[in-house]
Amino acid sequence: MGGKFFVGGNWKCNGTTEEVKKIVATLNDGKVPSGDVVEVVVSPPFVFLSLVQSLLRNDFQVAAQNCWVKKSGAFTGEVSAEMLVNLGIPWVIIGHSERRSLLGESNEFVGDKVAYAVSQGLKVIACVGETLEQREAGSTVDVVAAQTKAIADRISDWKNVVIAYEPVWAIGTGKVATPAQAQEVHSELRKWLNANVSAEVAESTRIIYGGSVNGANSKELAGQPDVDGFLVGGASLKPEFLDIINSAT
Ligand code: PGA
Repeated sequence: MGGKFFVGGNWKCNGTTEEVKKIVATLNDGKVPSGDVVEVVVSPPFVFLSLVQSLLRNDFQVAAQNCWVKKSGAFTGEVSAEMLVNLGIPWVIIGHSERRSLLGESNEFVGDKVAYAVSQGLKVIACVGETLEQREAGSTVDVVAAQTKAIADRISDWKNVVIAYEPVWAIGTGKVATPAQAQEVHSELRKWLNANVSAEVAESTRIIYGGSVNGANSKELAGQPDVDGFLVGGASLKPEFLDIINSAT
């Protein structure tokens, strides 16, 4: 629904130089759907970004896994949006649930980061998703709406933003959302965008699913009308990432 199918590979905090080279070699040899139907973006840790970018086939792109909330300066240990732009890194993942929960990133902070990254010309994969507790309490839609609102309050141009719906209970657990569960939340997010941003943004923004996506379950998920792609963690380090890319519809 929201444009070209998008498949992101989130490598998280994994890899050595040798492992990274091996993953890239596998991707470079892989067959992907013809006809420019899928956008593939892999996200290695910061230290491997330039290496991956230099070795990766040029029909695939790279993303950073995070960036700082404002411009370069006295922020020890951080990497700014300007630095990513300077290196020619087109994409950045912002608001991943691991950063929200382990590093205490609030909805507002995530919204500020998305806004700053977009203002610098980066394309953003903005992550939202509920915990198991929140799902069981029936507040899934409220949670993802609040996370999306914190972004919507701070940006007006959505053309460089992809929303990744990643239920926390499905991340790294092997417990994938059913196609119906994913479709339901994606559709609610699109309705939210329609009501609170614009019909045009609701129509054109890609909403991708993440959480235990693999080569065996991706095809059925990809068949859902509001699933516009995937953000893949564990399986993005393996050759089956190519199967997921090939599930593009
Ligand atoms: P997973 O991770 O595919 O390993 O569940 C997804 C993510 O965290 O983006």
